[in-house]
Amino acid sequence: MNFSIQARDDAAVDVLVAGGGPAGCAAAIAARRRGLSVLLVEATSALGGTATGGQVAHWLGGRSPGGRWVVGGIFRELAEGAVADGCALLPSMPEGKTYQPYAWLPWFIHGVPLDPYRLVPFLERKLAAEGVSFRYETRVVGVESSTLIARVVTHGKEGFAAHPVRCVIDATGDADVAALAGCPVHVGRDGDHLTTPASLTFHLSHVDHAILQETIEKTRSPKFRELIASLRSTGEWPFPYDIFISVKGLADDEAMINTIRLVGVDGLDADSRTRAYVDGRREALQLLDIFRRHFPGFAQARIKSIAPLLGVRETRRIAGAFTLGVSDLAAGTDFPDTIGFSMYGWDLPDPKRPSVQPLVDESGGGFVNKAKKGLATPIPFCVMVPQGCANLLCPGRAVSVERDVLGPLRVMAPCMAMGEACGVAAEQVVAGTANVDVDAGRVRDVLRANGCIVDASALPSIEPRVDP
Ligand SMILES: Cc1cc2nc3c(=O)[nH]c(=O)nc-3n(C[C@H](O)[C@H](O)[C@H](O)COP(=O)(O)OP(=O)(O)OC[C@H]3O[C@@H](n4cnc5c(N)ncnc54)[C@H](O)[C@@H]3O)c2cc1C
Repeated sequence: MNFSIQARDDAAVDVLVAGGGPAGCAAAIAARRRGLSVLLVEATSALGGTATGGQVAHWLGGRSPGGRWVVGGIFRELAEGAVADGCALLPSMPEGKTYQPYAWLPWFIHGVPLDPYRLVPFLERKLAAEGVSFRYETRVVGVESSTLIARVVTHGKEGFAAHPVRCVIDATGDADVAALAGCPVHVGRDGDHLTTPASLTFHLSHVDHAILQETIEKTRSPKFRELIASLRSTGEWPFPYDIFISVKGLADDEAMINTIRLVGVDGLDADSRTRAYVDGRREALQLLDIFRRHFPGFAQARIKSIAPLLGVRETRRIAGAFTLGVSDLAAGTDFPDTIGFSMYGWDLPDPKRPSVQPLVDESGGGFVNKAKKGLATPIPFCVMVPQGCANLLCPGRAVSVERDVLGPLRVMAPCMAMGEACGVAAEQVVAGTANVDVDAGRVRDVLRANGCIVDASALPSIEPRVDP
């Protein structure tokens, strides 16, 4: 079969940001603030990525258990702006309580719960005010490259378009651009390439959080794993996972349910993703039925929304010249090019056993337990530098790390810290510096001046984690 692709020429830009998730939005703002022209292209119809399309409406990893900022800069600015705009909250632990309704465990209160619908126009206004051009329903599908990407090819309703660029920031979460450019990448686990389960998040209304709170506070029960085990024994819980994650939404009666774990999903395969949507929607309705019958506070619950975008935790990671490993973090290595930190734990469920966290549940003591006590994880700049393409940077969940390190790094506040650092570094790349030669010291100086936390000495003292 012969076919040719006609791509219309689009205007040249300094920086093309692929993907409008946490990493992409922060990268676009930061690059624009360095005086660069920026076009952000987003495959879906919304900014925010997994937080909005995936309705995982909770930015994690940027605050300490006591609510101190561990990620500053654009993340903090967006979080505080979203709170002022009425589309986010900065919750704290209710006095004398052990249950935190905006999270499942007390030490999770460092999150920023969001309204996924209101967050999109908030981000749209923000990017527009910064002078970032963004284009929806536009997917990066090709690159013209040798050792540099000269043009990025996108596809949208109008057909194909070719964008001359000087720097590309691949914030697709899937390292799509890096893969298209032929940069080496890894997928999933070594050996079988399986990835951690995917989820379809859904939101409920008419949840009585007072009943849930009272039951948990008064009786210290139900222990949901026990409840689920008993439902499984009667055949009422048919799923391969035995977790229940419900996070209070901004409205008093709303809950975000992040319980579904879809095993065997290939986030890079359309058929596999299609099956995941079909299974996920079916399981959401099954779970609602079970919750209404058995879970305190859920008797009147109704579906408010089911995420339009599948929640994929893991696909490709770039294979950079440097790969951040568990042992680097265990050794407490102080990286000279640290651009930020993550305040999140080792959360990467086993590909086949969706309720098991291998590094936490199976390796026992040592580093992971230490990390659980509240170490912030440093993020060196070099994890965002792919090999083989000198004007490409790759922030977000596709960075060059051992896959276990995705646990702390993949959440959204550190993704914004990475995006911001790439946006600042883009200034040097646009001026002709190869990504591997970027002066990370200069990047750190700019970040520091912009309120980012890039030095361990500037981290707040982290409160000890309190388990119920
Ligand atoms: C079910 C689930 C629950 C999670 N829970 C939390 C949580 O509670 N808190 C938290 O902080 N983190 C959570 N995470 C992790 C976090 O959401 C992601 O790791 C994070 O959003 C990654 O940010 P990103 O910017 O790299 O990518 P994404 O958020 O995935 O954004 C990437 C964007 O790029 C777009 N895109 C993809 N390919 C292309 C292309 N070729 N061209 C153009 N655009 C493209 C996508 O449409 C998307 O908008 C969760 C993840 C999942 C899946």
